[in-house]
Amino acid sequence: MHGELADAKNGVPTGVECRDGIFAVRSTVRRFNYFWSVPIMPNARLLLSYAHPDDEAFGSGGLISKYVAQGVDVYYLCATNGDVGTMKPEFLEGYNSIAERRLAELDCASQKLGFKQVFLLGYRDSGMMGSETSNDPASLWQAPQEEVTRRVVEVIREVQPQVVITFNKYGGYGHPDHIAIQKATTDAYLKAGDATYLTNGQQPYAPQKLYYSSVPKTILQVGIFMTRLRGNDPRKLGANKDIDLVAILDHIEPIHTRIDVSQWYDAWDEASACHASQLGARSQTIPTWLRRQLAPWQGLTRIHPSPNGARGYETDIFAGVTLDERRGVTA
Ligand SMILES: [Zn+2]
Repeated sequence: MHGELADAKNGVPTGVECRDGIFAVRSTVRRFNYFWSVPIMPNARLLLSYAHPDDEAFGSGGLISKYVAQGVDVYYLCATNGDVGTMKPEFLEGYNSIAERRLAELDCASQKLGFKQVFLLGYRDSGMMGSETSNDPASLWQAPQEEVTRRVVEVIREVQPQVVITFNKYGGYGHPDHIAIQKATTDAYLKAGDATYLTNGQQPYAPQKLYYSSVPKTILQVGIFMTRLRGNDPRKLGANKDIDLVAILDHIEPIHTRIDVSQWYDAWDEASACHASQLGARSQTIPTWLRRQLAPWQGLTRIHPSPNGARGYETDIFAGVTLDERRGVTA
């Protein structure tokens, strides 16, 4: 499975309707104002390593929008094509498969978020834990971890990100693909800088910081309360009924870093709207206006360097980072 690294625009159909209008205008104005009010960060590179087309927007859309506006080159590694996501039949009109639709949605979100490049590893979506699809030999869950690690190392050495973000050990909400890419990314983060670990003539590159994405506890607690209030089961949310808010809360890891995204909710929602076929969980939990009030920040767990009991919250994932220039890729 050591294929060529793919760009999101290669072979991805376009044509997903993105929500425009007032949100787009507001976020464009905000980006413009922000551009003039904050220092631009030359040579800053961030890699998000997740599993599906939608993880980037739903989980990290605010943070991505903010750093792109600061001039950071943000890259997305998406391990699967989202082949088995559940969706209503109308979303498949004009598409040959679920994966094709979801990659088109990713293309839409990528343009909204402003990714520098998207890397598709092309594994098959494993579906829910214990399902038949998770036994598919082409699925990410069945792929040897060493193989996935190697492919993530290849992307890290190509992109040379100073900062890497992936899921927490529970994979955010226990999805097998999330767990698989978390393990591979954590492993790859350490191996990418090891000169004895060889990948097609690439030079070693050691990123400086590794984070796991998180969700504010308050958001989860209020989400569980409101879901029950509406008569829904907080353990079975989303288009695929596989999101368990109670289990997410049980597995949450300490938050060390809070990124203020209060100005970026519109951009975040705009990117999320691209993934229209997968929007179920959001509409079943907390409205944006309330999320904005409860947590105007996105939380992260800092894995490396260890926070070592530091007090207070870090407010910038690039704090303390040396912004080295990107070198030639091959040795
Ligand atoms: Zn996912």
